[in-house]
Amino acid sequence: MFIKSSISVLFLFVLLLNACQTPKPEQKYIKFAGETQGTTYHITCKTSDSVEVVQHNVDSILHAFDLQFSIYNKQSVISKINNNDPTVSLDSMFVDMINFSKKINQMSAGAFDITVGPLVNAWGFGPDTKKRPSQKTIDSLLLITGMDKIKIEGNKLIKSNPKVKIDVNGIAQGYSVDLVADFFEKSGIENYMVEIGGEVRCKGVNEKGKLWRIGIDKPVENNNGAEHQLKAIVELNNESVSTSGSYRRFYVENGVKYSHTINPFTGFPARNTLLSVTIFDKKCAFADAVATACMVKGLDSSKLFLSENKIKAYLIYSDLEGNLKEYFSPCLNEKLFGIE
Ligand code: ADP
Ligand code: MG
Repeated sequence: MFIKSSISVLFLFVLLLNACQTPKPEQKYIKFAGETQGTTYHITCKTSDSVEVVQHNVDSILHAFDLQFSIYNKQSVISKINNNDPTVSLDSMFVDMINFSKKINQMSAGAFDITVGPLVNAWGFGPDTKKRPSQKTIDSLLLITGMDKIKIEGNKLIKSNPKVKIDVNGIAQGYSVDLVADFFEKSGIENYMVEIGGEVRCKGVNEKGKLWRIGIDKPVENNNGAEHQLKAIVELNNESVSTSGSYRRFYVENGVKYSHTINPFTGFPARNTLLSVTIFDKKCAFADAVATACMVKGLDSSKLFLSENKIKAYLIYSDLEGNLKEYFSPCLNEKLFGIE
């Protein structure tokens, strides 16, 4: 009996010793990029897993997200809802997206509105081609615009009019950044930078042991590609950043510039002196949706809204002479900015 229990104790001891001696898998920074939601993503994180494994997991999350929210995929849940498919039932992520969008809609006094779908399409920024709708068309589409026209009942989305269509592209990239970041946190990854279509969330430090540094575009037309110009560089401390601007997705017809952010009150593309809005928040979905809302509100109304709600924001606008001007909201620490 004594010998038996001594052997068991010895066995346990050897096991414990072994466990202590097994070296922890080494963590290193990995980097990968891919495509999603009609745009690109770039991710850097510190992990002991291989890049193949992490990228596979991220791609699965993003693929599942697309199956819910892509208006370009006819089989997605959102497309089925927009086509009034009676068989569709919503899962908790979809319900959360609608509820969160409603929250930002109320907070922004209606400027952020995911029922702008038919107007976005009419102006040629959806799956259809570019065109300028008549005032009559705009007036009829305004009748089916407004977040009071949709509500969640159980796992169904109820519309007050079957013509109502939703478009979550003003929040989708930020929301999916949060999904990937939440997955990293659950997996014990504590240092990461997730960027999807320009919306970013960071945690911890980069490979050099420093806070992540993110560039903010100079809002000049077609500022992409090789000669990408930056207006500012900012350090992110466990935070997200999202920029909306009239300088990227727009078209010009008869000398008039139409940008892809729609004012849900007038039915017209937002036109004001704001060139870009950059919002900082823990949650990337929040930053993304609020940036879109500010583009609708314009400079003065945004200043009020941002200070009332204590939102960190960096606005770039043009003055009467067409010069680029900057505005920092009261709670933003300007010191984090290295302006060009
Ligand atoms: P970007 O960051 O490229 O400027 P946004 O995040 O502002 O883009 O999203 C713009 C997209 O949001 C549009 O293409 C459209 O699908 C949708 N959208 C347009 N106007 C609104 C609005 N007022 N509220 C919510 N979503 C909108
Ligand atoms: Mg947005």
